[in-house]
Amino acid sequence: MSNVLVVAEQLEGALRKASLPAVKAGRELAGKVGGKCHVLVLGKSVAAAAAEIAPYGADAVHTAEDPALEHYLAEPYAQAVEQAARALGAGYVVATASSTGKDLMPRVAARLSAGMATDVLGFVGDGAAIAFRRPMWAGAVIAEVTIATEIKVLTVRGTEFGVPAKAAAAAIAPLPVKIDAAAVKTRFVSLEQVKSARPELTEAKIIVSGGRGTKGDFKPVESLADSIGAAVGASRAACDAGWVPNDWQVGQTGKTVAPELYIAAGISGAIQHLAGMKNSKVIVAINKDPEAPIFQVADYGLVADLFKALPELQAALKKDA
Ligand SMILES: Cc1cc2nc3c(=O)[nH]c(=O)nc-3n(C[C@H](O)[C@H](O)[C@H](O)COP(=O)(O)OP(=O)(O)OC[C@H]3O[C@@H](n4cnc5c(N)ncnc54)[C@H](O)[C@@H]3O)c2cc1C
Repeated sequence: MSNVLVVAEQLEGALRKASLPAVKAGRELAGKVGGKCHVLVLGKSVAAAAAEIAPYGADAVHTAEDPALEHYLAEPYAQAVEQAARALGAGYVVATASSTGKDLMPRVAARLSAGMATDVLGFVGDGAAIAFRRPMWAGAVIAEVTIATEIKVLTVRGTEFGVPAKAAAAAIAPLPVKIDAAAVKTRFVSLEQVKSARPELTEAKIIVSGGRGTKGDFKPVESLADSIGAAVGASRAACDAGWVPNDWQVGQTGKTVAPELYIAAGISGAIQHLAGMKNSKVIVAINKDPEAPIFQVADYGLVADLFKALPELQAALKKDA
């Protein structure tokens, strides 16, 4: 059993872009272990999402539709993924390490009695002996792990794999699943989505982040971000203080990002913050303290007061535009 099953995400029938790196990882893994790459799209009505993901390199796309899958809930989704994995002879079940992937896949692993590796960065070797590279201690150590169980469950770090190239669209086929509603102990109440004109943090090309140095005043951070079409991020200190929403948090226990440009203002550069942004292509740090550790990873460092530097940067960019 060396087929790979990639679990895709959709929201209200639309494919979530976070799914695409998992397809890229699944494709690469299938090549290394000599199996086929199957993609599973689950929900109540997912034809459009399945059509959207079909040209990204999978051998086949399967749709599992059931009223019990209308809204994402880990329990019914885990039942459906388990059934699909068994039906498709999957030796590897893969999803992106998004908040959904992190919630769902441990339950899938438990149902399949499978070992699991989280936040996989890449593969080492091939065939049955394949190992998985994954970060430990907030990325200070990269481990190579092998999984001894017959079925292996993985979440992969989206920023490491990226979006696969488009190819001919894979065939789409329904895959019947039977949800045991009596076994589902959770119930969907409501979904409150934060609607923002700004790009999603994990997809943004530019991110401007603020930390404790803002003292709770994110106006210069947000103003610069909006003037250059960037997403806004934050350190955990800023989120924990209640200054900004938790879903802005970048880092080990927040989001992992790798934009073209990451501007960190008033952020010291703790290892847990670096774990979420150090793979950004260009890092600009603005900090009053010349000894701040963020300068060790910064491509450009400015020892300055962010309340002076950010408006000046914004004005200079406007002049050049
Ligand atoms: C298990 C665990 C998980 C964690 N996960 C995360 C995570 O996911 N993300 C995360 O960010 N942290 C995380 N942390 C917390 C992390 O260790 C740090 O406490 C946090 O990142 C510090 O945030 P900060 O840099 O904003 O604050 P500080 O470390 O207090 O730094 C503030 C900086 O602002 C500078 N400053 C002050 N005023 C100004 C000014 N006017 N202009 C310019 N600079 C100024 C200061 O010189 C200082 O360097 C985690 C911690 C643990 C233990």
